[in-house]
Amino acid sequence: MIKLTIMQPSLEKLRKFFRLEHENKYENTAIIGGLARMLDYWEGEARADGVTEDVIQAVVSRLRAYEKLSPTGRADSLKGLWKRIGETYPEAGQKPRTQNQPPRPARSDADGETNAPEVNQAPPQNQNQQRQHPQQQQKQKQAPQRFESATSAKHSQTPAALGAQLTVLQGVGPKSAESLERLGMKTLGDMLYYFPRRYEDYTLLKPIQSLMYGDVVTVLGTIQSVHNRPVRGGKMNIIEVVIADGTGSMRVTFFNQPWLLNRFKVGDAISVSGKIDQYLGRIVMNSPDWESVEMENLHTNRIVPIYPLTERITQKWLRNQMKQVVAFWAPAVVDALPDTIKREAGLVSLGEALTQAHFPDSQEKKDRARQRLAFDEIFYLQMGVLRQKRDWQNVDGKRFAVSDGWLDARLLALPFTLTSAQQSALTDIRGDLDSGKPMNRLVQGDVGSGKTVIAALGASMVVSNGAQAAIMAPTSILAEQHYRNFTSLLAGENGFLQSDEIRLLVGNTSGSEKEAIRAGLADGSIKIVIGTHAVIEPDVQFKELQFVVIDEQHRFGVEQRAELRSKGTNPHLLVMTATPIPRSLALTMFGDLDISVMNVMPVGRQPIATHVLRPQERERAYTMIRAQVRQGNQAFIVYPLIDESEKINVRAAVDDFETLSKQVFPDLKLALLHGRMKPAEKDEAMLKFRDREFDILVSTTVIEVGVDVPNSTLMLIEGADRFGLAQLHQLRGRVGRGSVASTCLLIPTHEDAAENDRLQAMSTTNDGFELADLDLKLRGPGEFLGTRQAGFASSLKMASITDVALIEKAREQAKSLFERDPELSQPEHSLLAEAFERFWKGTSSDLS
Ligand code: ADP
Ligand code: MG
Repeated sequence: MIKLTIMQPSLEKLRKFFRLEHENKYENTAIIGGLARMLDYWEGEARADGVTEDVIQAVVSRLRAYEKLSPTGRADSLKGLWKRIGETYPEAGQKPRTQNQPPRPARSDADGETNAPEVNQAPPQNQNQQRQHPQQQQKQKQAPQRFESATSAKHSQTPAALGAQLTVLQGVGPKSAESLERLGMKTLGDMLYYFPRRYEDYTLLKPIQSLMYGDVVTVLGTIQSVHNRPVRGGKMNIIEVVIADGTGSMRVTFFNQPWLLNRFKVGDAISVSGKIDQYLGRIVMNSPDWESVEMENLHTNRIVPIYPLTERITQKWLRNQMKQVVAFWAPAVVDALPDTIKREAGLVSLGEALTQAHFPDSQEKKDRARQRLAFDEIFYLQMGVLRQKRDWQNVDGKRFAVSDGWLDARLLALPFTLTSAQQSALTDIRGDLDSGKPMNRLVQGDVGSGKTVIAALGASMVVSNGAQAAIMAPTSILAEQHYRNFTSLLAGENGFLQSDEIRLLVGNTSGSEKEAIRAGLADGSIKIVIGTHAVIEPDVQFKELQFVVIDEQHRFGVEQRAELRSKGTNPHLLVMTATPIPRSLALTMFGDLDISVMNVMPVGRQPIATHVLRPQERERAYTMIRAQVRQGNQAFIVYPLIDESEKINVRAAVDDFETLSKQVFPDLKLALLHGRMKPAEKDEAMLKFRDREFDILVSTTVIEVGVDVPNSTLMLIEGADRFGLAQLHQLRGRVGRGSVASTCLLIPTHEDAAENDRLQAMSTTNDGFELADLDLKLRGPGEFLGTRQAGFASSLKMASITDVALIEKAREQAKSLFERDPELSQPEHSLLAEAFERFWKGTSSDLS
C-alpha cells in the first residue's frame, strides 16, 4: 500500500508564503491583494493533494480573516495555523516525518475527539508497513507522484490517490486491472464504491443438527459425496452434494449448473447460505449461495463480504485487495455531507460507512453503513432532479394551441374511442403544450394501454401549428411499428398530413432515402420523423423541432435524450414507459417530470390466461404450443437470465433451441433470438417472426418490449421463478395483442411452494402496477427492477427504491438544502457542490 510521506506541494506553497509574509513583517503583502487571494487556487490544489478537509477549512477561515487583524494578530494567526497543520501533517513541521509514523486521524474541530469516527484511526496496514524492507518503502515514496498525474480535477475533493489506476496496488498487474475494469473498477475510488453482493455471516453459523425448516442460515461442512444426476432424459441436471459438520449431514442440491461438478471435491470445506427446505421429510438446501471456506475468515472476520466476480478473479483475491484499499483509503475520503444534515438524518460518516459496508464489524454497523450510502444516492439524485426541474421552468416553451373542433375531428377519425386514461393523458399534454413552458412529461402506461396514439395526437397538435416532431424508439422494429401507426392515424384518409410528410429513419434506411429525409427535415417539408438512434446523428437537422417523443424511455441514456432534445430549441418532451414504477421510485427518479398514469386498458382486450405448471408438466406446455401452431398461431418460449451472466443465459437458450427444434418440434419452424446476436440479426429474427416465417421464437429476455406480433397467442416462460412479477408481466405483454385469447405458461426451475404462490399472482391479475407492488412486497427491491430494467436504477447501488422512509428523509433534506442554497454556492457547501457534480457526471441514470 501507499503512504504519503513527502509534504504536499500545496502545503509547501503555503509554507513559502508564510515565510515571505514573516519577512514582510506581516503586512499582508506576500501576495498582491493580500494573502486571502491565494485561496482562489490554493483550495483546489490542496484538495487535489489530498489535504484533509478540516485543514483546508482551517486555512480558508484564517486567511479570510487575516486582513482584518493587526500585524501581531496576524503573526499569531499564521503561527497557530501552521501548528494546526502540523497536527495533521507532522512533516509540515521542522522535522521530516519518519517512515513509521502513521498519518494522524483527521478530526474536524467541531466534532471534537469523542465524536471522531473510529474508522479515522490509523489504518492497520501501517503496522505492517513498518516491517517492510527498504526497497518497498523506496517504491512507495514515489507513489504520490504517480497519483498526481492520474488525478483529474473532478476528484479534487477527495484525496488525489483515489483517482489512481489500480495497477498502483501491489499484486495488480495490467491483466488483473483489466478484469477489475470489467467489473467497473478503474481507480482506487471505484473500488471503495464496489460493494459486496452479500455477506457471509459466520456469526449465524448453525450446526446441521439444529436446523429447522424455513431457517435462512449459513451452514459449514465438509463434502462427503458429490453426485451428478441427469433428469428428464438429460434435459436437466441436478448435482447433489452431501455435507457434514459432525452434528449431522445435509443434502445440498444445485439445479442445472453442471459446471459445478468439477468445483466440489470430497473432503473440501464449503459454506452454503440459503433457506432450509424439506424433501421427503429431510432437511435440504436448494441452489444455495456457496463458497469454499477460508479458515482464516472463520476466526478473524465474522462477517465476510462476497463480491460479484468476473473471469480470472477469485473471491479471495478480490477480498484481499479490497481489504487493503478500504482500510487505507476509506477513512481518507472526504465527507461532503454537511454535519447538520448528518446529524438531522442520523447518519454515520462517509469513511465509517465505506469501511463498514465492506468489512462490517456487526450487522448493525453494516446496516448503518449501507443506510448512509443509500442516503447519499437518493440525496444527490434528488438534488439533481430539483435542479433540472428549476432549470426547465426557467426557460420558455413555444405555445401550441388547437381548437376543440380540430381535436374532436382527430378523435373522430380514430378507429376506437380513447379510454378515460388516454383522455386525461391527452388533456395533460394539451395543457403542457399551451403553457408557455417546455413540456416534461412521463406517460407511464401498462403494456398495451395505448400510449402510441397519445404520442401521435400530441405530435399532431404541434405539427398542425407548423412545427416538427421527432419520435425515437429503441429498435428499428419498434420504430417501424410506430411509423405505420402514425401514418395511418395522421396521414390516412381522415388525416391532415401527406404520407411523405411522415418518414421513417433507421439504421438500414438507404443512403439516398436518408439524404432526402435530411433535406426534408432541414427545409421543414417533413413534419414528423420516426426512428432509432439514427435520428440523433449529427447530420440530422430540423427546421423547427418542437416536439420530442422517447418511447420505452429506460432504453435510452441521458445523453441520447439530451441529444435529441438539443436538435430543437427547448422542445416539448414526452417520454413513455411501460414499466410500472412504484410511487416512491417515481418520485425519486422522475421527480423532475410530470407524470400521466394510464392505468386503464382499452375495452375488449382479452385477458391473458396465465397458468403455473410444474417442471414435470412441461410436456403439457409443448402440447398446448403445438395446438396453437396448428390453428395458425405463433408462440414464444422464453429463457431467463441466470446469474446475470448473459453467457450462461445464451447457453441455456442455445442448448434448448437444439433440443426443441430437433427433438420436440422437428416438424415446426423455430427461430432463435438472444443477446449475443448483432442488433441487425435480432431485428431480422423478430421481423421474420412477425411476418410468420417461424412458428416459435425461442428467446432470452431480449424480445423487445413493445413489439406487436398480434398473431402470437402463447408464451411459455422457463425458469419463471427467476423473474420479478413486473418483468413477467412485461414479457407476457408480448402476447394477447390480437383478438384471439392468449395464454401464458410459467414453469419455475424447480418445485417450490412459496415460489408457486408468488407466480400464481400472475394468474389472478393482469394489472402491471398491482403486480409490481406485490412483487416489491414479496421479493423486496433488489429483485424488483430485474436485470433488464436495472438501467433505471443504475446510479443506485445501495438505496432501495422501496425504502420509502429513507427516500422521504433524503428528499426532505435535499429540498430544504435546495431552498436555502440552490446553487450550492455558500462556502460551507463547496464540498457538496463538487460531490454533486461528480455524482451527476458519473451517473448513467435515466433522468431526462
Ligand atoms: P403501448 O401502450 O403498449 O405502447 P400501443 O400504443 O402499442 O400500446 O397500443 C396497443 C394496441 O392497442 C394498438 O394496436 C392500438 O391501436 C390499440 N389501442 C390503443 N388505444 C385503444 C383504444 N382506446 N381502444 C382500442 N384499442 C386501442
Ligand atoms: Mg409502446
